[in-house]
Amino acid sequence: MYDVRKIRADFPILSRQVNGKPLVYLDNGASAQKPQVVIDAVTQAYSHEYANVHRGLHYLSNLATEKYESTRGKLARFLNAASEHEIVFTTGTTEAINLVSYAWAAPRLQAGDEIILSVMEHHANIVPWHFLRERQGVVLKWVEVDAKGDLDPQAVLDAITPRTRLIAVTQMSNVLGSVVDVAAICKGAAEKGVPVLVDGSQAAVHMPVDVQAIGCDFYAVTGHKLYGPSGSGGIYVRADRQAEMRPFLGGGDMIREVTRDTVTWNDPPMKFEAGTPGIVQQIGLGVALDYLTALGMENVAAHERMLRDYARDRLAGLNWLNVQGQSATKGAIFSFTMQGAAHAHDISTVLDKRGIAVRAGTHCAMPLMQHFGITASCRASFGLYNTVEEVDALISALDLCHELFA
Ligand code: PLP
Repeated sequence: MYDVRKIRADFPILSRQVNGKPLVYLDNGASAQKPQVVIDAVTQAYSHEYANVHRGLHYLSNLATEKYESTRGKLARFLNAASEHEIVFTTGTTEAINLVSYAWAAPRLQAGDEIILSVMEHHANIVPWHFLRERQGVVLKWVEVDAKGDLDPQAVLDAITPRTRLIAVTQMSNVLGSVVDVAAICKGAAEKGVPVLVDGSQAAVHMPVDVQAIGCDFYAVTGHKLYGPSGSGGIYVRADRQAEMRPFLGGGDMIREVTRDTVTWNDPPMKFEAGTPGIVQQIGLGVALDYLTALGMENVAAHERMLRDYARDRLAGLNWLNVQGQSATKGAIFSFTMQGAAHAHDISTVLDKRGIAVRAGTHCAMPLMQHFGITASCRASFGLYNTVEEVDALISALDLCHELFA
């Protein structure tokens, strides 16, 4: 039984006040709060178990290496990768997608080759491809979302031409919450020999993920949204794609041998991990994944579906609010603008005065803002510890905004 009160007690920050009001944290899409077990793991690692990894033969180095490397297996199991060797650690999704852009795509793509993107991608899944457009003449092909904010997998597949070299698509929009049927995209793309990168930054936080069932080539996640430390994360890179990749950053750990004239590479995934990594961050991520696994991602998803349905009904009662994206299968992420003069920043400031944290702005998704013809919106994004009472608090604060700004 999913006991949200008990779960909330695991997150110390949730009991604090902000501006004299109990914190209502609805900015999980930007970053999630950390359970005490993760905070303790970070403290424990720095207090008693810290040394550099992979390098020393001494006790602490071995201990730190063991703990750090155990996260690789945990992330592999969390995503159901076939092997933990298919997990490359990164500082998050941004680095993960840049890794694929630089190490896999850049050496293979020629001028005129095409990458298919949806219009609701986060900048982290746009800008690394713009690099290839600017530097190599690669063409970015955009697939629109429909009026409800859904991305039709067939529209993505229809955009494939003989020049398509990659499809890069999110599994869940960080703005609309829309969930994309990435398995259907991967199936159709594989039939045409086109690899697929899935941005799982949001989806992996809110639903069970099985990269083998999805059939993707790359699947990126970011640890700080998964209730782990910032600077943690990684990417699933299927073994055959790893074999096609050149190294990313150069330095220690990613090499086998260096002479004055030559250098040879370590085996994947180490080949893609240069220098001292985020040791404690990844250890903390491992504990966050344990925490999520113990809760059960199916249970987290069910709780968040309940919140989504409740929030959707209550927001629908505010007829002066425009909610962008109304997908029936969306996650518990709501972006909205208010009719009249109120700017998203003003709304967010009023909410903040009531202790409610939301995000306001373009959400690193400017092409999607352009698609909706808006310059900014407010976003309330829910997580595993949010409650219906917090939805009520949001609604009453929005009512106040309406009174103030209408
Ligand atoms: N992709 C999506 C869908 C996101 O929501 C985010 C973060 O907001 C990112 C990518 C980038 O993640 P990070 O900044 O942790 O690398």
